[in-house]
Amino acid sequence: MRSLILVSNRLPIKLNSNGSLERTTGGLASALEGAGLDDNYTWVGWGGSSPSKGTKTDEFLEQMRKLGVEPVLLSDEEVNGYYEGYSNSTLWPLLHYMTERARFQPEWIRYYRQVNEKFADTILNIAAPGATIWIHDYHLMLLPKILRQRRPDLKIGFFLHTPFPSSEVFRALPERDELLKGMLGCDLIGFHTYNYLRHFISSLIRILGQEADVDGLQYRNRRIQLGVHPIGHNHHGFKKAAKSDIFQQTYKTHREQLEDDKLILSVERLDYTKGVPQKLDAIRHFLETHPEQANKVYFVLIAVPSRRGVEEYDNLTEEVQCAVSSINGTFGEVGHAPVQFLHRSFALEELAALYALADVCMVTPTVDGMNLVAKEFIDCKRDSHRARPGALILSEFAGAAQEMSHALLVNPHDTVGVANTIQIALDMEQEEMEARVQAMQKRLDLNHAGAWAKRYLTDLENASQELPCSN
Ligand code: UDP
Repeated sequence: MRSLILVSNRLPIKLNSNGSLERTTGGLASALEGAGLDDNYTWVGWGGSSPSKGTKTDEFLEQMRKLGVEPVLLSDEEVNGYYEGYSNSTLWPLLHYMTERARFQPEWIRYYRQVNEKFADTILNIAAPGATIWIHDYHLMLLPKILRQRRPDLKIGFFLHTPFPSSEVFRALPERDELLKGMLGCDLIGFHTYNYLRHFISSLIRILGQEADVDGLQYRNRRIQLGVHPIGHNHHGFKKAAKSDIFQQTYKTHREQLEDDKLILSVERLDYTKGVPQKLDAIRHFLETHPEQANKVYFVLIAVPSRRGVEEYDNLTEEVQCAVSSINGTFGEVGHAPVQFLHRSFALEELAALYALADVCMVTPTVDGMNLVAKEFIDCKRDSHRARPGALILSEFAGAAQEMSHALLVNPHDTVGVANTIQIALDMEQEEMEARVQAMQKRLDLNHAGAWAKRYLTDLENASQELPCSN
């Protein structure tokens, strides 16, 4: 029986090519390490894979449990309907304001409900009396209510890692009432920014007629707490990475290659929310208006493949590849292509070296719940022996912009504005860069990933108790 259970769609594990399973340290996992929870919790989620051929389900479950996780096994139909369908093709675009991309297929919600029930079954098998359950993200919005109905003794928290959009957008969802009521099974609901919280409150009143204020609401004889908990980056992971051999080697190699040229870096999953085509428009405009810079700058675009095989994502990849080759065809010279498009993922140590080296980092999503890359870049500018000074160009539509007012804030749709800001960043005096970076580091130090998890769990522990019955 466990007294603290973390719940997310995916488990922090990966299946190696030899069939063995391994724990991974993604954002959430590292936040929990930083919160000093040690191994005092278990993690419930989908393993992302089924038992490999020849492995019995019991053996597979045993292997998972040895890694401290409790898997929810999903059939192919469930993965299609719940994950690819309702979560990624309906909710993801809608929560990111992209109503025109959201697809609504009635059978998907059936799988979404079914899988949320399956998660509840797994949790209830292992939850000790009065256990704390911390649920993450939009895949599991119905789960709080299911758990509350079956086990009122549990302390239930939900954290949304995406934006919560304006009620005008959220109400386009056919199952809007059901999802809101699902979330109201919680004791604490957390968001990255005050704006997302405000939108949630408007949805409650407009869709359910349920009054709430910024601290919380009374609902069915319970008090539900609402809160703003901006997630932090993995500070300890990057600090450790900066001492590694891979870091030293990557830094040295690229430092020599760059000579006096400028490195303008961007790092993201290749998702339509990240504004990559808009960024390339701005880069093109910058090179058109500053042709003398074309052979002095390197725009390095790290774009991690996302959802390969899904038509929309494949089209985006093609669009980006075409735009990159058109820019390089127009502005490149023998031996120098101004844009390097790297369509693969990099290890944390390599990223840390690139962040430390970059003169400018461009983080320009059209909408993003938080954006950790912006925070990681600033964090890696700490050690003046290793890191070169740098400037951050940050979209005002990333949640991170709420905490990072010393960045160069831009509207990613404003091609001319972003292009001009690239030049401003390149011209910035070292003293000003350092002052801006230090101001941002000061703020980030108060809220790295571990501090975020600790604060959320403390708020959840202190969250509402049953209200006394008013006869
Ligand atoms: N990342 C990585 N390797 C890469 C590119 C990105 O490990 O090659 C990490 C990056 O360090 C960051 C995360 O992926 O922690 C991306 O998080 P972010 O909040 O910026 O965007 P998300 O992908 O969650 O929307």
